[in-house]
Amino acid sequence: RAKKNGTGQYEIFQCEMQAALTSTLELEADLRRAVGRNEFVLHYQPIVELAGGRVTGVEALVRWRHPEHGVIAPSTFVPLAEETGLIVPIGRWVLREACRQASAWNAGRGGQPPLTVSVNLSARQVQQPDLPGVVAQILLETQLDPSCLVLEITESLLLLDTVATTRRLRQLKTLGLRLAIDDFGTGYSSLAYLRKFPIDIIKIDKSFVDEIAGEPDDSALALAIVQLGRKLRLSTVAEGIEAADQLVQLRRSGCQLGQGYLFSKPLQAHEVDALLAKGRTIPDLLLPVP
Ligand code: C2E
Ligand code: MG
Ligand code: MG
Ligand code: MG
Repeated sequence: RAKKNGTGQYEIFQCEMQAALTSTLELEADLRRAVGRNEFVLHYQPIVELAGGRVTGVEALVRWRHPEHGVIAPSTFVPLAEETGLIVPIGRWVLREACRQASAWNAGRGGQPPLTVSVNLSARQVQQPDLPGVVAQILLETQLDPSCLVLEITESLLLLDTVATTRRLRQLKTLGLRLAIDDFGTGYSSLAYLRKFPIDIIKIDKSFVDEIAGEPDDSALALAIVQLGRKLRLSTVAEGIEAADQLVQLRRSGCQLGQGYLFSKPLQAHEVDALLAKGRTIPDLLLPVP
């Protein structure tokens, strides 16, 4: 009897495994097709000056419009794209589209400082020796001022292959763009890389921003990162700001920039058009100045 039960459970387990495996394989085949079929779309989340609410730039965030499953979030398909290497062609498309769009937004906006666009790079992309060439080509093609481009990388990348990575990051920097460390503080590498690699911007991970609440101790890490950034003359962007008291504390600490649902969710390109037309300031932000 025990044996029968056991077997039954084993079968159920196998069945679930099978389903998971099939769906991953299906998704992988779909993802391969998606590259050729132009099924990706970018949303843009405003990056805001904490002091005055002015939008200084946007972060491009990819979505997959799957013909049957609808819109799929990057957390679902980017890991698969990384495993399969499909992130390389997808990432190239993201970069070109983000630069094209930012260049269009900046065209004819005389007087106003140009908008920056931040693009996420996977380690797989940075490991490609031709990345600096690809970026240079895209900047040329789209006529985006290189100083308007920010490439976001993660700490884990900096652990991989120091010599080649350093060289590649320096090559990218010579194009005139800026480099940001995304999800800062969540990786396990030493802080020494902040001096070793040509980093310009620290993005404070949402998990630290989440901790900013009533108790002063809770905000210690986020505020320490802001100070670290200031000492190293890097700019700091706080990610995932959702509450007004987080904004107040970050402002007080001297953090210059932020993004989060408090200001805006990631927007479709036409919604950014509307925001820019209204004058580039998020009015709800104009909360009591600390
Ligand atoms: P990330 O680069 O750290 O992007 C921030 C993520 O936090 C975005 O999720 C954004 O929608 C979300 N977010 C922003 N503000 C808030 C907030 O106030 N509250 C909450 N709960 N979430 C907020 P999204 O768009 O789902 O992207 C997830 C991750 O996928 C990104 O994290 C990035 O690592 C990756 N990703 C997105 N687009 C690309 C891409 O084009 N290439 C690569 N390689 N990775 C990408
Ligand atoms: Mg990012
Ligand atoms: Mg991030
Ligand atoms: Mg993050």
